[in-house]
Amino acid sequence: MPELPEVETIRRQLATILVGRRVTGIEVREEKSYLGPKRVDQVITKVGRVGKYLYFDFADGSMWEIHLKMTGRLIWDRADYEKAKHTRVVVVMEGGKLYFWDTRKFGYIRVVSERKQLGKDPWEMSEAELMRKLQKTGRSVKEAILDQSLLAGVGNIYANDGLWEARINPKQKANTLTIPQVKKLLSSLRRVMERGLATGGASDNSYVNAKGEMGSYQNEFLVYGRTGEPCNRCGTKLERIVVGGRGTWVCQKCQL
Ligand SMILES: [Zn+2]
Repeated sequence: MPELPEVETIRRQLATILVGRRVTGIEVREEKSYLGPKRVDQVITKVGRVGKYLYFDFADGSMWEIHLKMTGRLIWDRADYEKAKHTRVVVVMEGGKLYFWDTRKFGYIRVVSERKQLGKDPWEMSEAELMRKLQKTGRSVKEAILDQSLLAGVGNIYANDGLWEARINPKQKANTLTIPQVKKLLSSLRRVMERGLATGGASDNSYVNAKGEMGSYQNEFLVYGRTGEPCNRCGTKLERIVVGGRGTWVCQKCQL
């Protein structure tokens, strides 16, 4: 699933392309993928983001909330997407078309009147605030940082890599983390997500940016998906375990 670095990469591209552009038509090819009235002749005034959600603001005060879920893509004006089997919604605009493409059909464009209330991004969250939030939960630290109401934008890739970077075991109870551990965790999450942004995101699965280009963070995963490969720090074979129902990769020597 696209996480903060992938969604932010798309947001930056679309903000440059779409702000000031008028929507002149909406062609819905899959009913599950577009929710709400089809209103046209609206100008996009902002392309924003809350966690993994994108928001397009319109001049009349209405909004689109867009979630890519597992396999969604937003592609600007590429002819190969016009007839693509998995193109679900075509937004016709002055000077081009925006394609919402999604194989699994879990993603959507929805007309909403307000943004989701989620936790803050790792860059907006202070160490003290994260400490307070983690102390309130007896869940594992990995489950806690994946909770979008606690901390927004972190998904399975960057949670795994961030915990390894911080030398924290994903199963450690969130409310037992020390202040130095929380500081290290926050700086590590920021660092791996900055790396994700710098490399254009992780395209290990379906993700491409709004121009249809792959990112390259998948070539430098620290632990995510690397079962049996050596730990970059100590050479110990990385293990796959399950935490909170999600695939989790750890170095049993570095992450006590
Ligand atoms: Zn190690």
